[in-house]
Amino acid sequence: MSITPLMPVYPRSPVRPVRGEGVYLYGEKGEKYLDFASGIAVNLLGHGHPVLTKAIQDQAATLIHVSNLYGSPQGEKLAQRLVDLTFADTVFFTNSGVEAVECAIKTARRYHHHHGNPHKNTLITFSNAFHGRTMATISATDQPKMIDGFAPLLEGFKVVEFDNLEAAEAAIDRHTAGFLLEPVQGEGGIRPASKHFIQGLRRLADEHDLLLVLDEVQSGVARTGTLYAHEQYGITPDIMATAKGIGGGFPLGACLATEKAAAGMVVGTHGSTYGGNPLAMAAGQAVLDVVANDEFLAHVRTMGDRLRGALEQMIPNHDHLFDSVRGMGLMLGLKMKTDSRAFVTYLRDHGLLTVAAGDNVMRILPPLVIEQAHIAEFVEKLSEAARQYELPEAA
Ligand SMILES: *Cc1c(COP(=O)(O)O)cnc(C)c1O
Repeated sequence: MSITPLMPVYPRSPVRPVRGEGVYLYGEKGEKYLDFASGIAVNLLGHGHPVLTKAIQDQAATLIHVSNLYGSPQGEKLAQRLVDLTFADTVFFTNSGVEAVECAIKTARRYHHHHGNPHKNTLITFSNAFHGRTMATISATDQPKMIDGFAPLLEGFKVVEFDNLEAAEAAIDRHTAGFLLEPVQGEGGIRPASKHFIQGLRRLADEHDLLLVLDEVQSGVARTGTLYAHEQYGITPDIMATAKGIGGGFPLGACLATEKAAAGMVVGTHGSTYGGNPLAMAAGQAVLDVVANDEFLAHVRTMGDRLRGALEQMIPNHDHLFDSVRGMGLMLGLKMKTDSRAFVTYLRDHGLLTVAAGDNVMRILPPLVIEQAHIAEFVEKLSEAARQYELPEAA
């Protein structure tokens, strides 16, 4: 037998973390890594944060799981908090990002069904998007690497060019239910949508009774310097998926909706065995305790500006390697002139963790609790690595 016990669907790197402390990870043999990947925008409090650790420990000793058959004081409390903090009136808790997006898709379809328009069942989605790996969410993309071999895909998605408002408008027909997009594309290469685009989609949605569905699984929970990225676009969605950072590393996601958009989500229409369990709720509360305040959000913006500034200053010294910096807050991408995957691998071997993304971009997603000293360390090590990386080419 040659298949590995872990189904071999990931190109796993030689980094084998067994312990974490703040913004550092430690491997099996004690190797130390500066973690500017955060488990792909998940560990926003870093590793071993006392507030999150204690909340999980205390709750684990009290009550881990019951069932959605019963009343949930823990769920009600976190849902109310998210309602108070956002555009939403109601929340469905999930265990992952993709489940939050699934719930968002179902909520959008069900809205039109509820209003007697079951033919309005198609979401307009966008090139280079990533919404997760279920059948519905891969059907929402146009990326061969995600969909090859999984046919038949689900109907009800129409992919048009990202950030092209005219293309989105032209795609609207009598079957359109709404738009589904990441305000800042993550996997696709840290591409923030333009204000013109997002505000235009909001206007089109209002004009045609469509729903604006945002996937803020990666961009949400303070990552971009506001609690959610859409706040910086001056609009609110009708439905939103959030996950990744919201549990700080504990599996938690949520689908948020306005009362209007959730009109069809009545008793019996959706469910989850684990979703909203007391342990996950405790993790979510702990994360919000730390991040959902003006002071912390200002910290993210300050660190984001400084990291971006330092990267921009560094680029001219290695301008055959690096092109430009893009992104918002601490969701940054370094556009490269060479293969970003190879460079991410090289950095990893030198104790720096980042994440490759589409469009030859290296994603820089540090824990949001970083300080100036971590930025200095990161940029210094990155420049050093860039200098050495140049050597083979120069020789
Ligand atoms: C990671 C991600 C998902 C999927 O989340 P999972 O927790 O892996 O299911 C969906 N949408 C976006 C934008 C993401 O970045």
